[in-house]
Amino acid sequence: MLLTARLAKALQLTLAVVKPDGMAHPLVLEALHQKILDNSFVIVKCKDLAWKKQDSEKFYVEHAGRFFYQRLVEFMSSGPMRAYVLAREDAVSHWRELMGPTKVFRAIYTSPASLRGQFGLTDTRNTTHGSDSMESARREIGFFFPEFSVEAWMQQEEPAFRAGR
Ligand code: UDP
Repeated sequence: MLLTARLAKALQLTLAVVKPDGMAHPLVLEALHQKILDNSFVIVKCKDLAWKKQDSEKFYVEHAGRFFYQRLVEFMSSGPMRAYVLAREDAVSHWRELMGPTKVFRAIYTSPASLRGQFGLTDTRNTTHGSDSMESARREIGFFFPEFSVEAWMQQEEPAFRAGR
């Protein structure tokens, strides 16, 4: 009964990333995993990786020219990261909520229990990334996990996932 109610909304995949500052903090991964558990996300994919500057530039190309772009690009290629594909109903907006707002002062004041509210250092070093729409999630999952197909997962795995198998 509870399961039926829980799956009444659309099942989605989203991309969550622990940025280099988050990987360097001893408590971030623990807090993130606790949020995954507490909020019934399923980890579909997970890997550690590090970007070259060109990867960073490509991923954040929509911000090219903005005052923080160079700082962001340098930061995102400064150390290891951990990327997750997470599944849940309303995964995209739910993960954004758990992550907190982009700007750290806003995160601290409006969402102190969020990952950015707890661990964000600056507007750039803000601990985590999460896709902001289903379209971004599809594109970003493809960027981090080129071997993974959202369409194929939805077709092949989603029915079993829904049925709890
Ligand atoms: N960022 C920054 N300064 C700003 C706004 C954004 O350094 O004033 C960085 C920050 O790391 C952020 C990333 O650029 O996470 C991408 O910005 P976006 O607006 O897409 O925010 P997000 O979706 O990550 O919350």
